[in-house]
Amino acid sequence: MKILVQKFGGSSVADLECMKKVRAKVTKAVAEGYKVVVVLSARSGQTNKLLEMAYQWSDEPLPAELDVLLATGEQESIALFTMLLHDEGIKARSMVGYQVPILTDTSHTSARIISIQADYFRSQLEDYDVIVMAGFQGVSTENRITTLGRGGSDTSAVAIAAALGSVDCHIYTDVDGVYTTDPRLVPKATKIPKVTYEEMLEMASMGAKVLQIRSVEFAKKYKVPVWVRSTFSEDEGTLVTQEDESMMESVMVSGVAFDRDQVRVTVLGIPDKPGISAALFAPLAEHDILVDMIVQKASREGITDMTFTVSRKDLKRALALSEQVCKEIGGEGVEYDGEISKVSVIGVGMRNHSGVAAMAFEALYKADINILMISTSEIKISCIVREDQLEKAVQTLHTTFGLDGII
Ligand code: ADP
Ligand code: ASP
Ligand code: MG
Repeated sequence: MKILVQKFGGSSVADLECMKKVRAKVTKAVAEGYKVVVVLSARSGQTNKLLEMAYQWSDEPLPAELDVLLATGEQESIALFTMLLHDEGIKARSMVGYQVPILTDTSHTSARIISIQADYFRSQLEDYDVIVMAGFQGVSTENRITTLGRGGSDTSAVAIAAALGSVDCHIYTDVDGVYTTDPRLVPKATKIPKVTYEEMLEMASMGAKVLQIRSVEFAKKYKVPVWVRSTFSEDEGTLVTQEDESMMESVMVSGVAFDRDQVRVTVLGIPDKPGISAALFAPLAEHDILVDMIVQKASREGITDMTFTVSRKDLKRALALSEQVCKEIGGEGVEYDGEISKVSVIGVGMRNHSGVAAMAFEALYKADINILMISTSEIKISCIVREDQLEKAVQTLHTTFGLDGII
């Protein structure tokens, strides 16, 4: 059995006209002899609409019920699309998360997939040419409906491709591939024909929302070949795959990513002694708050400041926890700065080239951009800059590393 997974995002299923374009892609794959697993998102705007409604109804919506509500967005898409396939004479059925079943943990609104028992799914593929599966949702170990976090349909698609034997997974969206940076911010961005799992992981983690981070983790772990393509063109798109020699040697930097979702928290005047970092960061970890960058100021007379960044959605909780710890350890207080953003340059080529960081810093300096925080890894350099300088920073780095295309 030749199986292909095709995932279509919200803008690809926005209305009947779009869905007909999706149908053309699916019909073509069926004609080529594939059994097709179509994974759909909610129609664009639908998830946001449902979320807004929940917060109008309730001050603090129950996460488990929020999931029941949000999952309806994808259920609507798969039912409508399956009807369209029937009109075309294609043998298809829909499946929601618990019918597959996609088993997840119990972290409502950002659940992780634990396993997919694909026996039933496979048997259904014998009977149908197309299974239209709801993205973004699963069923928890406690038999409750869960969702996989924003952008989670990418992960549903890659996970089902992995469960079916690491078959090809085509992610269709509104851009025709992975670009050197978000083409909506930098029109000179160029399409990358091939990108490694590692680079894509860094790009996604650093803010490029074209693929959800967890989908890339899955793809890397199970070696699923992932193509990012456009629903609205015939372009072959970008292949996300394993690294090979040629990719490492060709370019230093493959892309520039940015993230506007960062806030900087500073805990002032705390004692500079063993155990302080643990006291500060353990409670944040216990509350599932992801701390990204951390910088400790040079201490003066045994007193220091600790600065770190968190996601905007976690700010309130991070401040409350930090203030509590600050009091306990005799610190001076906590302040925050919400007007910052993160820009990152990414490339496996950095392993073979020294001086990439220096080049990035020099370029930002010449553009009169102040760097507030820095973090690096083997294939990434990230800088926190002022929010109003982000666009300039992205453009500067994009040009510096020779990524500008000719348009
Ligand atoms: P979908 O609804 O299909 O899942 P998303 O909106 O989640 O689509 O992701 C596609 C968007 O990702 C594009 O419209 C683009 O603005 C954005 N994006 C950010 N960084 C990149 C990048 N490096 N390459 C391509 N697209 C990017
Ligand atoms: N509908 C969900 C969202 O908007 C999942 C997805 O589109 O991938 O986040
Ligand atoms: Mg998406």
